[in-house]
Amino acid sequence: MKKTSDTSKTKSSSQKTRYVYNFGQQTDGNASMRELLGGKGANLAEMAAIGLPVPPGFTVSTEVCSYFYANGRSYPKTLGKDVDAAIKAVEKQMQREFGGRDNPLLVSVRSGARDSMPGMMDTILNLGLNDKTVEGLASISDNPRFAWDCYRRFIQMYGDVVMGVQAANDESEDPFHALLDDMKKTLGKELDNELSAEELQELVTRYKALIAEQTGKSFPQDVYEQLWGAVGAVFGSWKNDRAILYRSQYGIPAEWGTAVNIQAMVFGNAGDDSGTGVAFTRDPASGEKVFYGEYLTNAQGEDVVAGVRTPKAIAAMAKELPKNFTDLEKVRARLEKHFKDMQDFEFTIENGRLFILQTRNGKRTGLAAIRIAVEMTQEKLIDKKAALLKIPAESVDSLLVPVFDLKAQKEAKLICKGLPAGPGAATGRIAFTAAQAEVQARKGNKVILCRSETSPDDLKGMLHSQGILTTRGGVSSHAALVARQLGKVCICGAGDITINYEKKTLTANGITLKEGDYISINGTTGLVYQGLIESADSEVKRVLEGTMKASDSYTYELFNTVMEWSDKYRKLRIRTNADTPAMAKTAVAYGAEGIGLCRTEHMFFEGSRIDDMRQMILAVDGVQRREALKKLLPMQRKDFVGLFKAMAGRPVTIRLLDPPLHEFLPQDDAVRRQLADKLGLPLEFVIDRIKALHEENPMLGCRGCRLGILYPEITEMQVQAIFEAAAQLLTAKTPVAVHPEIMIPLVGFKAELADQLNIVHRIADEVMKKKNVKIKYMVGTMVEVPRAAITADEIAEHAEFFSFGTNDLTQTTLGLSRDDMGLFYDEYQQKEIYSKNPFASLDKTGVGKLMQFAVTNGLKTRKDLKLGICGEHAGDPDSIDFCHKLGLHYVSCSPPRVPIARLAAAQAALRSK
Ligand code: PEP
Ligand code: MG
Repeated sequence: MKKTSDTSKTKSSSQKTRYVYNFGQQTDGNASMRELLGGKGANLAEMAAIGLPVPPGFTVSTEVCSYFYANGRSYPKTLGKDVDAAIKAVEKQMQREFGGRDNPLLVSVRSGARDSMPGMMDTILNLGLNDKTVEGLASISDNPRFAWDCYRRFIQMYGDVVMGVQAANDESEDPFHALLDDMKKTLGKELDNELSAEELQELVTRYKALIAEQTGKSFPQDVYEQLWGAVGAVFGSWKNDRAILYRSQYGIPAEWGTAVNIQAMVFGNAGDDSGTGVAFTRDPASGEKVFYGEYLTNAQGEDVVAGVRTPKAIAAMAKELPKNFTDLEKVRARLEKHFKDMQDFEFTIENGRLFILQTRNGKRTGLAAIRIAVEMTQEKLIDKKAALLKIPAESVDSLLVPVFDLKAQKEAKLICKGLPAGPGAATGRIAFTAAQAEVQARKGNKVILCRSETSPDDLKGMLHSQGILTTRGGVSSHAALVARQLGKVCICGAGDITINYEKKTLTANGITLKEGDYISINGTTGLVYQGLIESADSEVKRVLEGTMKASDSYTYELFNTVMEWSDKYRKLRIRTNADTPAMAKTAVAYGAEGIGLCRTEHMFFEGSRIDDMRQMILAVDGVQRREALKKLLPMQRKDFVGLFKAMAGRPVTIRLLDPPLHEFLPQDDAVRRQLADKLGLPLEFVIDRIKALHEENPMLGCRGCRLGILYPEITEMQVQAIFEAAAQLLTAKTPVAVHPEIMIPLVGFKAELADQLNIVHRIADEVMKKKNVKIKYMVGTMVEVPRAAITADEIAEHAEFFSFGTNDLTQTTLGLSRDDMGLFYDEYQQKEIYSKNPFASLDKTGVGKLMQFAVTNGLKTRKDLKLGICGEHAGDPDSIDFCHKLGLHYVSCSPPRVPIARLAAAQAALRSK
């Protein structure tokens, strides 16, 4: 259970709550303790326990974070003492003294949530340096340049993260960077590591002056004051804007909190036999089993991930630091074998000695997630079940998204090549800032965010972009990491490009493009093109449609493997929401086992049908309405024939007309006039009828079954069309099996359902008699208003099936219009009131309870009640998990989400075992 207050007060001292967990010679935690220690802390403990070279340290648990926020940003009373003891233990192992003048211990202070949130929270390195210890470090390392470099880095990070000395806005430069650049310029030096010890010392003086000037405070010299400042800042960063945005994107609960990891520093910037890097046990972009990553010699970790210096590929290390490379290969194999997943780990080499600073399951693209899971199963590292659970269900989408049309790509003007960091094809208008990307995207434009490098603050802009292009940084830079996770196309380190933020231009190889111009990026190859490139279907789609051979596509093979494994384990059936034969065919190719919702109203928008529909709506009595419906009948019949054929005997749920009728009527005067002319009606009459049909709140007005009750002739026509279509196919020369399921919308009273049922059975009997054929069919209802759920026992007296219409059920349960939440949604997200958008992912505790109630009580009345869901939630993995637990028989989602639903249903079944 989560503790939110200092329970140590109420416990005896022997039961005192433990807040601090060591790792190193003595290790208190392990990999299973992610909730308490965060992912980073738990894995550090695990690595230390299995004997990997981890610098010693300790983790302050996530419970302290909860306490911190519940108690006005203060700490449990016992924490201070525990931290002191833990520091002493690290001092002993390192044989260095925290704040000691001669042999100083330096530490890093890093966040670490249960699920990693790369770059979203704060980190501080080199903590423990002050005007005295810097001298000590200079003499023990015999390298004053290194000592002063560490000190200036520390002041820079601490000044930014703890003391708030930052760039004023998106377009202005970081003030510390500005001082550094200024100094390099004056001295005529190009790289940071060309500055001498004396010059760095001068830079330290300037940094300290900057802090004093901007904050009115001096940079703290007391190392414990430094430590607590950093711990507070890391806990504080759990609630910074980027972390909140990230959490809302990934549905991470605010209550989880972060842990803080304090670890002895080892130095990658101690000389040319030192270095630091980030490595992945497999390629996180393609999933290929190759050692992937990058490093820099004589540098600290931040240099690699911040994208300031473009690092070297890990393979280059085999020549430059061969012994370390062999050790690193061993670590790579060990980590995968132990954690049974692709690992993203950080390492540092200090004077020839290798240390591992952290490991975590690496973020990967959708394609990589699938490839890694499948190949690890083939390598017998994991079994099929574990493999399926490793793939985020949404990943499947990345195998289905369009790629560039090959011919169009060949003809396009190539600008340059960068590092392929997030595969796929993206075309859009250039935006140079995150804010501009957001503005453009809100206008409906596709955007490519182009930056020298990205920082975590760019997250919002990245979310709004089709793709991300950076001129600096490598494949593990922030841009690459985040893009991969978001499933965005990304190219990094396109060094030939120069971006001029002031002029808002991008130049490469003689081509200059402006903000708003089109650019295209291929994140699979790293190629950047001028202008817009047409896209083409994915390989998977081409194979499914028969325009490519399955044996020619490894991507298809991966897709098919995952789908076959999923089908083996899932209990839920997967249907689709489709209104046309083309949609139905695509869905079947993706694996749909039936139609769970055909919205018949969509069939009336096509071509001139809308006018016949309008004539029906404008009719003043049943006679006129029947006349108009007669014209619609053959069209509907033809539609149903097409749909039944495409589904070839699979069940097809057809919903009778649902939307408020005025949705079909023109708002525009000119169109109203045309309509009046076409129907031979006076314009005033048309206007008056439209006025008469006006509703203040149409979503809660004359729609759903109310339409069929008010105008029974509409229900009659639709049912006649369904049964005539079925009869036609059953009696055809080559008969086609049909299984219609007729669904009545927006029912709240059993009497409503009874009314419509009478019509359905009457017309069905008539058609069957006339055509002399027996048609097996079902009649059921949508459960999409709370009253239907609450009276499910009564409704089930008439309904053979329930299909949860969770779009309307969410709308009516929350009293929240599905079309109007834009006004306040951002604020709700910011305040973390909704953990997820309730129209995208089921509100399990509210709407979900109603569903549970309806299932339980519906089944009491009718044991064989068929249960499904056809709201948008049916394509959302988390909601699918819930539907599995409820015991529904099927989920029905849009055609492109069918593969995701197949995998999510298998995962739900595996998880609940
Ligand atoms: C629903 O309400 O969930 C549903 C599927 O119907 P519609 O979205 O057409 O209202
Ligand atoms: Mg509905």
